[in-house]
Amino acid sequence: MTSSTPAGNKDIREVAISLDQVSKWYGSFQVLQNVNLNVRVGERIVIAGPSGSGKSTMIRCINWLEQHQSGRIVVDGIELTSNYRNVDAVRKEVGMVFQHFNLFPHLTILENCTLAPIWVKKQSKKDADAVAFEFLEKVRIADQAHKFPGQLSGGQQQRVAIARALCMRPKVLLFDEPTSALDPEMVREVLDTMVRLAEDGMTMLCVTHEMGFARQVADRVIFMDRGEILEENVPDEFFSKPRHERARAFLSQII
Ligand code: ADP
Ligand code: MG
Repeated sequence: MTSSTPAGNKDIREVAISLDQVSKWYGSFQVLQNVNLNVRVGERIVIAGPSGSGKSTMIRCINWLEQHQSGRIVVDGIELTSNYRNVDAVRKEVGMVFQHFNLFPHLTILENCTLAPIWVKKQSKKDADAVAFEFLEKVRIADQAHKFPGQLSGGQQQRVAIARALCMRPKVLLFDEPTSALDPEMVREVLDTMVRLAEDGMTMLCVTHEMGFARQVADRVIFMDRGEILEENVPDEFFSKPRHERARAFLSQII
């Protein structure tokens, strides 16, 4: 379903991701504390919170880049367990965009986009190329398809990383501070790309400090601190009258 779904009907939308009492420890340090979160199909969620609060860990658990130790994580009806079939199935549904792009430097832009479709989805090169060009057009960088990542600006590389994720036709996209490593003049082009995805109805979970983006596209803002979700709120209220004292303190520092 798309973003045009009337707000009153949101609760009947299908659940894309659910975290139920999820906890995780690094050694004796508890990094996630009984995290509960439901993300519905087509929802755009921004995750905010101080550095070290567990934001990256939480979203990395959603595609098993990190493993939770208690609770349940279900993505598109598949529970993440140590069963590799489930992990593979979830990873096919979940695209991820990282702060540092993580493109393969020795592959062209086109090859970066077709690698997983060819090897994981067993697409023919011809089909994978066609899909890659479709998404490179979408992020407005198809004219650079035969260059290598090092020949592109940071903003262009991040748009390629978004196209690469889209080539797997994920049901959900996770973003971990996608603009934090960019020079200021490149932030806008990446945010504009993300806004267009949101307008297309993509289910998105974005860790970002870009509060303008949160106001523009988020259905909900999740505020995390010390491994806990302390507040879930609609952006207007989160920014104008945050309920939690630590959210107020956080906002006073970044806005
Ligand atoms: P955020 O993304 O909100 O900045 P992270 O999820 O990266 O937070 O980290 C949360 C906490 O877990 C931090 O205190 C960090 O130092 C710690 N941490 C992250 N990764 C590891 C790891 N691999 N081993 C031990 N501690 C870690
Ligand atoms: Mg982080």
